[in-house]
Amino acid sequence: MNEGLKTIRLARHYGFCMGVKRAIRTALRTGADSTGPVNVIHDIVHNDAVVKSLAERKVGSVASVAEAPGGTIIVPAHGAPPALFEEAERRGLKIVDATCPLVIKIQRIVRRLIDNGYEIIHFGDLHHDETRAVVGQAPDGKVVVIHDIDGLRALPQDRPKLALTSQTTADAVEFARISREAKRLFPNIKIYNTICNATGLRQKAVLELAPEVDLMLIVGSRSSANSKRLRDISQTVCKQAYLINSARDIDPAWLEGVTAVGVTAGASTPDILAEEVVTWLMAYSGGKAVVIRPGDRNDEPADLDGAALE
Ligand code: SF4
Repeated sequence: MNEGLKTIRLARHYGFCMGVKRAIRTALRTGADSTGPVNVIHDIVHNDAVVKSLAERKVGSVASVAEAPGGTIIVPAHGAPPALFEEAERRGLKIVDATCPLVIKIQRIVRRLIDNGYEIIHFGDLHHDETRAVVGQAPDGKVVVIHDIDGLRALPQDRPKLALTSQTTADAVEFARISREAKRLFPNIKIYNTICNATGLRQKAVLELAPEVDLMLIVGSRSSANSKRLRDISQTVCKQAYLINSARDIDPAWLEGVTAVGVTAGASTPDILAEEVVTWLMAYSGGKAVVIRPGDRNDEPADLDGAALE
């Protein structure tokens, strides 16, 4: 117990987003309605607790279409390349597509640009499933992935038709910086801000909250790109920031001398895990801390319109 902890503040936006809720609902419904095996390609969303919970409801995971024992495969929230759909069809598997509509929107933007003769610079993580699915829209190498501004600067500059897009969960501040540099290097480039609404709101909420507290706790799995991003952003404006799977990961040593703690969670993290962290902190304070909840969590509208900024 530590009575020095006075305030526990939740971020204005945290936890499950529209696309994740939709994908989990789809997986649960598919599991309940199917008689044969049901497997998600990789993970339905990047959260260990969610994956475990689905496995208990007979919705498993496979690393590839080739590994599926038959029955149904579910394409996860972050999507899959067209080649994967084709392979599943060839194998006669039933395909249930739980790709987030905002991820589908990026894929459509990229395909339309490629059809119109553009090459794409995509700001994202080459090893992330969403990025692989975007790259897979143009198997002839017309999508180049960069993960930082140096990657942009290293590109050859004699490209007549270029467009810039980003992973839905990219760092909004970094994307703005990259967009400015892209415009300088390639004056005719078309820039599409494809960072999703939920990601933008969670990042903005962290930027508001983290400077106000002594310690930030970000609930999410290490496989979750958007949770890691919230941790990274927090670390730029707060003395201490840790990514934790659940309340069990909290080290009481982090709380020494701390009077205010901020709590948030990635878009793939069940809200209940953030609530459990608040409960843990409350108990740690001997019931003395005040919990502040901004209350405005309405981020359901899928407002990504993919409109070119330039
Ligand atoms: S983070 Fe954004 S793109 Fe990803 S599932 Fe959620 S709403 Fe969709």
